[in-house]
Amino acid sequence: MESQKKFSPTYSFELFPPQSELGVEKLRVARKKLAQLKPKFFSVTFGAGGSTRERTLETVLEMQSEGYSVAPHISCIGSTRKNICSILETYQAAGVQQLVALRGDIPSGMAQAGEFRYASELVKYIREAFGQAFHIEVAAYPECHPQARSYKADLENFHRKMEAGADSAITQYFYNADAYFYFVESCESMGLSVPIVPGIMPINKFSQLVRFSDACGAEIPRWIRKKLEGYGDDTASIHAFGLDVVTEMCERLLKEGAPGLHFYTMNSSELTSKIWQRLGI
Ligand code: FAD
Repeated sequence: MESQKKFSPTYSFELFPPQSELGVEKLRVARKKLAQLKPKFFSVTFGAGGSTRERTLETVLEMQSEGYSVAPHISCIGSTRKNICSILETYQAAGVQQLVALRGDIPSGMAQAGEFRYASELVKYIREAFGQAFHIEVAAYPECHPQARSYKADLENFHRKMEAGADSAITQYFYNADAYFYFVESCESMGLSVPIVPGIMPINKFSQLVRFSDACGAEIPRWIRKKLEGYGDDTASIHAFGLDVVTEMCERLLKEGAPGLHFYTMNSSELTSKIWQRLGI
């Protein structure tokens, strides 16, 4: 973890672009509350294949105009250079200085992968076309990306993204801090020394968490799964247990030198704020 200790901690919150007017209103309330915690930036997700293109742009531009520091996600699968270029020009004109550059997943029914196959190609393109205009974050997978040929191949891909010009990384969420420590140490042994900020998913609904985790390859340790399962519909107990587990993990991550935390807020301030308060950030 030595490589991480030299970076000052960065705290950030991830939001997704809402689908309805009600969602837009809810997000405005949530981000106002979250902003009181003074994160370094908010990130806003981008649906794969450009499925949320307009909504992501609208959310990002509204937040920029409100004075927030925003890092839009941009995924390249199914997109053309022209499309990506036009989105990035819009962001540059709006004063955006940071991006989360991703491959994304090919939505079912979409046959074409587009002009970019991997996030490393997107990062390379952004550096070629926009120079140092943006600080570029990429994704990291302490528990290995589900489609990777092997753990080693996934690490090599992470290295490729950094070589292509990425500045730092945010991880997929996990509930096993040792996977993160091992990943960072593996990066160190490859000579990588960039901030790798752990992604933190507060535990809200068990069924939703299982669905997400199955899809993205994040492991819910058996003991946590069993405890959550046992609570059934008792949301208060799920939240109480989840807050204990996640806060303890965050404490350990920070104590060992993690350079901050990135919260997957799911557009809600409640659980993230509670973890934040318990951590005394
Ligand atoms: P890549 O880094 O390109 O890797 C994808 C896979 O390809 C990996 O298995 C890798 O090992 C393999 N690979 C890479 N290069 C090669 C190569 N040259 N040869 C062979 N194999 C290779 N998804 C969204 O749709 N929208 C979002 O806003 C979004 N935000 C995210 C934010 C974070 C912090 C994280 C961790 C994930 C996010 N995702 C998002 C999910 C992400 O898009 C998926 O996990 C996707 O499957 C991989 O994206 P990537 O950028 O990590 O891809």
